[in-house]
Amino acid sequence: MNEREWLKTNLAICALCGRCKKDCPTYLAEHNESRSPRGRMLLLYEAALKEELIDQALIERVYSCLVCGACEGICPSGVDVLKAILIGRAYLKGHDRKGRLLRRLMAAGTKRPILSYRLLSVFKDLLNPLLVKKGLIHRGLELDMPPLQTVDTVFSPEGRRKGRVVLFTGCSVRFLYPYLGQSFISVMNSLGFEVVLQRKEYCCGAPLLGLGMIKETERLAQRNLESFERLKADAIVSLCPTCVTVTGGIYRRLFGDALEMMVFDDFIKDLIGEKQKAGLDSSVFYHPPCHMKNYRGCDSAIGLIELSGMVLRGQSEGCCGHAGTYSLRFKERSLQMLQKRVSEFESSEADVLVTSCPGCMFQLSKMIDHPRVIHTVEIVEEMLEIKGKETD
Ligand code: SF4
Ligand code: SF4
Repeated sequence: MNEREWLKTNLAICALCGRCKKDCPTYLAEHNESRSPRGRMLLLYEAALKEELIDQALIERVYSCLVCGACEGICPSGVDVLKAILIGRAYLKGHDRKGRLLRRLMAAGTKRPILSYRLLSVFKDLLNPLLVKKGLIHRGLELDMPPLQTVDTVFSPEGRRKGRVVLFTGCSVRFLYPYLGQSFISVMNSLGFEVVLQRKEYCCGAPLLGLGMIKETERLAQRNLESFERLKADAIVSLCPTCVTVTGGIYRRLFGDALEMMVFDDFIKDLIGEKQKAGLDSSVFYHPPCHMKNYRGCDSAIGLIELSGMVLRGQSEGCCGHAGTYSLRFKERSLQMLQKRVSEFESSEADVLVTSCPGCMFQLSKMIDHPRVIHTVEIVEEMLEIKGKETD
């Protein structure tokens, strides 16, 4: 079934009841029906019935969805809203003039990530001022550390090995925050786990999916499935909930097969317990990433903060506005969302903001000093270091 037929068949069952609007951040921000899930379903259904209705205004409304998942599992008629948004974007993309350049850049970046990274590194002095001026990054990309893995690598613990985990680094940890990957290795090694980094890891496809590039994402999915399914390990773990959501539920819904992968917070929470309880002396504000909150809950992160001894001073009440390519395409709205999260953090008077997603870190660091924005893996690393010193 092609995209148009899929939309006609699957959106005909929408009863237009509006229940899916309840928690939609784009609807709550603007109270505009066409920026709600129900409005988007209706626009896509009509565009599938009559192609001549497609124009740039309709495309912008469909592309203004954050793909956050807050409307998941609500529909009493059984409409798969998220899948409809992704298939709808693929259906509309041929008409979407505004997204053409972004699609070309993302296709090149995901096809040749190492080459793209090297080009960015070489030309960063030219590119950085331009990107900062356009508000796309908060300060120059540093790109000082080499990417996390370019060859298969195994990091073994000292002493007896208790298990083996594979780290799915994802592009943001691999290229932007390799130090988070190093923290993960240090945490797992100190708990007796061997860590494997897989050279044949490919982008999960999230930035391509957001731009309606389902076929290109399917190619990446096939490569990741071939590459990771043959590995023998106790678990595949990622520091990025978006990678886990895409390679899990979204691969399954679009392509029929998925990777069994765990988010770091959930994996580590099962491994460490009261005996690792530490007395870290600071206060923290937690930003729950949409792909944690809406797909798997944030109990593990909160539990980790409690175990660390840090004082929890509050939590964000919404999306940071990153949402992959949303922050590039809807810059103003994205910055408005970010400003709200920053105000919440500042009012909490917490020392640091912690989140479980490198994408959220990237967005939040546009307005908060980078050292004050940390990942949950950094908290666990610090807890284990303290416990290590106590037992020395
Ligand atoms: S995925 Fe998020 S932004 Fe998109 S329609 Fe659903 S709730 Fe709204
Ligand atoms: S998608 Fe489902 S919940 Fe949303 S308006 Fe249609 S029937 Fe109602």
